[in-house]
Amino acid sequence: MNLLDYLPGVPDFPKPGILFRDISPLLANPTAFKEAILQLESLAKQFDYSHILGIESRGFIFGAALAHQAHKGLALARKPNKLPLASHRESYGLEYGSDSLEIQQSTLPQGARVLIVDDVLATGGTIIAACQLLKKAGFQVAGALTFLEIAGLNGGEILNQKGIANKSVLV
Ligand code: IMP
Repeated sequence: MNLLDYLPGVPDFPKPGILFRDISPLLANPTAFKEAILQLESLAKQFDYSHILGIESRGFIFGAALAHQAHKGLALARKPNKLPLASHRESYGLEYGSDSLEIQQSTLPQGARVLIVDDVLATGGTIIAACQLLKKAGFQVAGALTFLEIAGLNGGEILNQKGIANKSVLV
């Protein structure tokens, strides 16, 4: 099974010049989705982590399924003003715009070693912001795991240069 077949590229979305990989067909096929999570779990074993941080919104899907499969706790990095308790915020640039993420201070235990999980790694900006958020809140970053790294944008290399260990199932 070639999982890339379930991630068709949509040209010029959400802006001209961007080839957007749509994960919907992968999620809609139970065999492909299960295989994707098993492959993520296999890569996750290379990290020493206690908790997963899923990034809103598609990172929630992969993060939650992996947390369930690997029997790890899950925390959520959310878009601004969604979290009810005291939170840290970090703003960042995207391949197609800018955004902010927040995490709630009290969700993770002290000493948590956190594996950041998202669907797609493009320029690395989102994961760098998640990393900074975790550090701001006093947690250790175990690394970052994504399902797909977009080839040609060097996100994995950019994360390596910042000292963020990272793996992707597909490149
Ligand atoms: P980065 O910050 O440039 O690495 O972009 C990664 C973030 O943008 C992730 O949260 C992805 O969900 C989203 N993203 C970027 N490109 C794509 C894509 O082609 N398909 C799906 N999500 C994408």
